Order: sequence, then structure tokens, then C-alpha cells
Amino acid sequence: MLQFALAGNPNSGKTTLFNALTGSTAHVGNWPGVTVDKRVGVYKKGETPVEIVDLPGIYSLSPYTPEEVIARNFVLDENPDCIINIVDATNLERNLYLTTQLMELDIPLVIALNMTDVLDKNGDKIDVRALEKRIGFPVVEISAIRGENVDTLMARALEAVKNKRVGTSVLKDSLLGSAIANAEIALRLKDVGAPLFHAVKLVEKDGIEVENHPAEARAVQAFIRENVRGKADGEIDTEAEIADARYKYITAHFSSTLTRARRNDTEVGSKSDRADKVLTHKWAGIPIFLLILFGIFHLTFSENVLFLGSIIPSFGEWCAVEGGAMKTVFFAGGLNSPGVILFNLMDWFTATLGEWIIAGIEALGASPAIVSLVENGILRGVFGVLSFLPQILVLFLFFSILEDTGYMARVAFMLDRIFRRFGVSGRAFMPMIMGFGCSVPAMINTRTMADEKEREATVRVIPFFSCGAKMPILLAVAGGIATWFGVGNADVITYSMYLLGMVVALISLLVMRNTTMRGEASPFIMELPAYHVPGFRNLMLHLWDKAKHFIQKAFTIIVASSIVVWFLSSFGWSWNYVGENMDNSILASLGKLVLPLFTPLGFGSQLSADGWVFAVAAVTGLIAKEDVLATFAVLAACLNVSVQSGLDEGVGEVAAMIQATGIGIPALISFIAFNMLTIPCFAAAATAKGEIRKGKFKWTLLFWVFTSYLVSTVIYTVGEWWWTAFIWVAAAVCTGVAIAIHNKKADAKKLLKK
Ligand code: GDP
Ligand code: MG
Repeated sequence: MLQFALAGNPNSGKTTLFNALTGSTAHVGNWPGVTVDKRVGVYKKGETPVEIVDLPGIYSLSPYTPEEVIARNFVLDENPDCIINIVDATNLERNLYLTTQLMELDIPLVIALNMTDVLDKNGDKIDVRALEKRIGFPVVEISAIRGENVDTLMARALEAVKNKRVGTSVLKDSLLGSAIANAEIALRLKDVGAPLFHAVKLVEKDGIEVENHPAEARAVQAFIRENVRGKADGEIDTEAEIADARYKYITAHFSSTLTRARRNDTEVGSKSDRADKVLTHKWAGIPIFLLILFGIFHLTFSENVLFLGSIIPSFGEWCAVEGGAMKTVFFAGGLNSPGVILFNLMDWFTATLGEWIIAGIEALGASPAIVSLVENGILRGVFGVLSFLPQILVLFLFFSILEDTGYMARVAFMLDRIFRRFGVSGRAFMPMIMGFGCSVPAMINTRTMADEKEREATVRVIPFFSCGAKMPILLAVAGGIATWFGVGNADVITYSMYLLGMVVALISLLVMRNTTMRGEASPFIMELPAYHVPGFRNLMLHLWDKAKHFIQKAFTIIVASSIVVWFLSSFGWSWNYVGENMDNSILASLGKLVLPLFTPLGFGSQLSADGWVFAVAAVTGLIAKEDVLATFAVLAACLNVSVQSGLDEGVGEVAAMIQATGIGIPALISFIAFNMLTIPCFAAAATAKGEIRKGKFKWTLLFWVFTSYLVSTVIYTVGEWWWTAFIWVAAAVCTGVAIAIHNKKADAKKLLKK
């Protein structure tokens, strides 16, 4: 099969084009560095299928970071049949810098001139014919985001592959042109592949190249010393000279193909700048970010939008009055947020569907054990988890919008100032934010971080950024607290828990970077992407991907674990069906065994007979975090309490748990914190193992267990006995001082040795 590689600057739209060509749904984000590894797909719409490889973004073929090495090695070693060079048309000159290097290879090359929709909107024009003629290979205007012209692009590329291409260079007539020509001949005699490209690198004194061809390198440098006269006498900085020559050529020959619409040249920029003045303000920037985050959580979780129900008492009273089923969908404590409305609809749908199914199998004359298996073992678990899908999607829609507009990249910059004090650069923020979706891709994204220790520390704290699967736990328990005890709003509690996760992440980073993983934050340089309106298709693809993954999980892992939990809680050790007497079940005796472990956290031995349900739920959460709630749903059915009817799925089950076990608010919060901070799900733990240096994984596991245990214990004890706060603060201060003294001594020793 033919193989085409997509190469281009970061954020030029490679992944968008990749998705358009292959129909995949790879992550597209409006910040540089989203694609960290090459990704392969197949284009099937042409005469022959073509393998498409999406590469990480690069500015040049002289690599500095690991992902740049991946891209360079791919085009050099794998010899793709064609390189499709994506050029951001709104940033023509800088993007063509890479093009001038790619054209030195002997590989067929086609330029995909992307973002032409933006160009059109600005009224700018690029004379494609002229550009094509001057540059010497096909140039095709496309808009990756709209899928415009991508088939033409592929047709042109397939055409280009038919002829062999020999590299050309824009450096021929430059100061070093003769040196390059000489080196090329020498390398050609040695049968080196892509001689022109390597010749340029030799002249540049590229480290790898000089090592590979030492004799030629010496000859080339001698040639330059004898024959090339720089402006000032003395040694020429060949690398700078070559970069300069490339830009000069681009300005002289290619820039003129772009005609800008007559406009106040600062107009476009200033709009972005004006927004940045506010959004990235020195001290208001972070509070604004937190406010935006709260707004997002409010619109996703609140049952009292804008607190209208509280501000307008008469409205609040009207909302609280029982109405028809549809009234409660839209109004509860006030106006419901879009997220809650969708949740209610989903809840109503799954409940109705469930009733039908149960009525159906009862009509067929199924035995009580079978009915219980279907109702409690399968439907409750799956539906309990599925009900949260709408809210997860709403949350992700908001996050994708923030990301795609370019705002998140700015937040990374602002946070760099804070993170730096914790020994971590702002680069770590992007994977962390991705962690709100799922820890697995987030951990993989850390590969762009150059410093190994910094990267490892980041991988460890990513699970603290509560992922989509943990959201149902937060929401249901928060909802249980709000409805059962009548304290607080579910959305405020949920938001606080998300914040808690972030704070714990920062504190653990600080501790790690000062103890086991000491080091300075690596420099953080990133080009800020321009603000732009998010692409609708992109957003929908993203959501669809999320939904698909979630539903798949619900019908596989969650169904399976629900059945296991149901089985263990419905049968005793002698395989007798215990039905409602769950206390005699296998699960109950296992649960009671581990119960004491959780006593310091508040959901252990101090609870009543059924108290082991929390411990069991926390353990099943290690498989998949959705399992925590699915377990609740399965077990709640067997508790000897009547669940208040009319309570939402999830919340109702938690309320039943509270009633049956007598658990208090501090212990419930501690329970959420434990699930959020402990060992993540199986998939995330396995990913972490792959991303972390060998032998460090066991410490990472220990770190998760220890952190979650400690934080939950603190929450529980302080919540129950406020004065214990003093003990914890004192312990923290002592530890901090001890670390500081130890580090000072260690540093002094190091200095002495030197
Ligand atoms: P990559 O880093 O090169 O893989 O770039 P991405 O594919 O992740 O895209 C970067 C940003 O550019 C995203 O926000 C895309 O939505 C946006 N983008 C990509 N192609 C186009 C396009 O044709 N027009 C516009 N207006 N935006 C685009
Ligand atoms: Mg990409």
C-alpha cells in the first residue's frame, strides 16, 4: 500500500486533515503539541487505498524535543511515498520554512494550503498558480476543517507519486551554495540516501550528521574556510547563515504570491489582543479562569441556574411544588441547568425502558432470581451509569470549546507562572486538563515533556484531575448529601471536589519535586494559537467519540462487574440464594473483612451492619470508576430501606446507603476524595506503567494509595472533630521544615564535593 506522511508546523491542521481523510476521530486541539506520536489511518476514497501517517508538528528538521525526533526520523528513515506538507496559509512565511527543508529530500512533495476559509474571510488571496510554479511541485488549497478539496489534494498527490522526484534546494545561490553542492557530490559518491538534505545538514554542522560522516564533515568545513568569505572575516555561523538564506528566499520569491486585503493591519490582531488583555491579565487571569470553570460546572450540574430559585422566592416555591413528571425535568429547586435537564430526560427514559423490560420478563414467567438478576444485576448498574452520559457530554462540550478557541493554551501560560514555583512548567497543564476527560490519553500526552522526572511527577497527578468516569461518583454522592441532609448545592459540592483534586495535585507536585524527584522546571516555550471559533464538526466528532467509548464500557465492563457484584451479594457461601438478606451473602463477609482498613477514613467499622457497601464499591472502582455507582445501584436494591421515590438515579441509591448505614457528611466527602485520588482504573494504571521509568511503577501505586488515604483521613477527622485540624497543620509544617532542612544539607554536601 502507498504511504503518505502528513508533515507541518504545530497547530497547522494536520490532525484535522488526517481525520477528514481517514474518517478517524483523533484528538484535535488548538494548541501546539497535541499529537505526540505518529498515528496511522487509511484513505479509501481514491483509486487505491493509501496509508496516511499523522506526524507531530515540527518547525524544522533539526529536532530539539522527542516528538520532533519522531517526525524527522519518520520522513528520513521510513521513506514515505509522498509527503503532504500542510501549510497554514494565514502564516505563510513561517510555515514555508519547513517546506524549504522538506523539498531537499528526494520524496514527492505536495503542499496542502490549509485554513483557506480564514484567508477568504479576511479577504486575503494567495496566487496558488504562481506559488506552484515558483516552488516546483503541486500546491492545493484546502480547508481541513470543512473537508474542502481534500479529495483533490489526494488526487494530486497520487499523480505526484508516479514520477520520481529529486530534491531541490533554495540555497543554491546563497553564500554557502557551493559548499552544499560539494558536500552533495561527496555524499552521492558514498551512496547516501537523500544526499542534498544531508549535505545541507553537514554544512550546518548538525551533530548527528557530523558524527555519521566525519571525513566529509572535515572536508566541507575546510572548503568553507578557504573559499567562502563572510561579511566580516572570521568563522561563519553556518546554521544561522542557512536559516537566514531560507527566509530571504521565501520573502523574495514566495511572499509576493500573497495579497492582503487592504485593512487596518492591526485590526485582526487587536481583537485577539484586546481579549487577551482581560483574559490573561496578570492577577485577574486565574480568578477569571476559575470563574469560567465554575460557570461550566454550574451549567452542567446545577438544579438552580443563576440561583434564581433562591433570589426570587415565589419562583423557588413554585418550583418546589410537586408537578407532573415533565415539570420536575425542568424545575426542581429553581430552573434546571441544561446538563440536569438532559440527565432527567435520560433518567426518565431508562426508568421507563427498565420497567417495560421487567414487566416483559415477568409476563414470561421468569423466577424471582432471574428477575432479580435482570433488574438488579444488569439494568440498575448499566442504567445507573448511562444516566450520567448527558452530563458528561455537556461538560466535555464546554471543555472542547475552551480548548478549541485557544483559551486553554493561554491558561497554560498563566499557570506556568504558578506551576514553576512547584517545580513544574506550564507544559504539564495540557495533559492535566486532558485528564478531565480521561487519564489514558492525558498520560500519553506527557511525552512532549523533555524532563523525565517532571514528566513522571505529572503522570502521577493526572488521575487527580477527575475524569469523566469519576463524575457520576461525585455527582451522586454530592446529590445524596444535598437531598438527604439538606446541606449545600450538589453543583457547589461537585465543583469543590474538582478543585480539591487540583489542589492535591499541586501540593503533591510540590512535595515530589522537593523530595524524591528534585529538579528545576524545564523552560516552557509555546506559540500562542490565534483565537478562533470552534469547528462544529470537530466538536461533534469529539463528543461522539466520548459517547461511544462510554456506552461501550457500560455494556461490557459495567455489565460484567454488575453481574458479579449481584451474584456475590445474592448468594451465600453454600450457593444458596439469599435474596433480600444480603447480610448473609458472600460479598457481605468479604466486605466485612476489609472494612477495618477504612475506619480512619470514616466509612469502615464505625458504620452499621451494612456499612461494608462503601468499602466494596471503592474496591470495584479499581476496575472502572463507573463501577462504584453501578455497585451502589446493585446493592441498594437489597438494603432493607425504602428508597424515597422520585429521587434521581444515583442520588436515590446514595440516599438509601446513607439511611441504611448511618454514614455522616464528612465520611461521604472522604469517600468521594478517596475514589478520586486513589489508584485509578485499570486502564489508566496500565498506561502509567508504560509511561513511567522501569521499576518506578510500584512507587507510583504506593503514592496513589498513600495520598488518597491521607487526604481522606484528614477530611474525615477534621469534619468530625474540627480541632484535629491543628494536629494536621502542625504535622504538615513539621514535615515541610524537615524536608527543607534535609534539602539544604544535601545541597551543601554537593557544593562541598565540587
Ligand atoms: P495539528 O497540531 O497540526 O495536528 O493541528 P490540529 O488538526 O490539531 O488543528 C489545530 C487547530 O486548527 C484546531 O483548532 C482546528 O480546529 C483548526 N483548524 C484545522 N484546520 C482548519 C481549517 O481548515 N480552517 C480553520 N478555520 N481552522 C482549522
Ligand atoms: Mg495534531
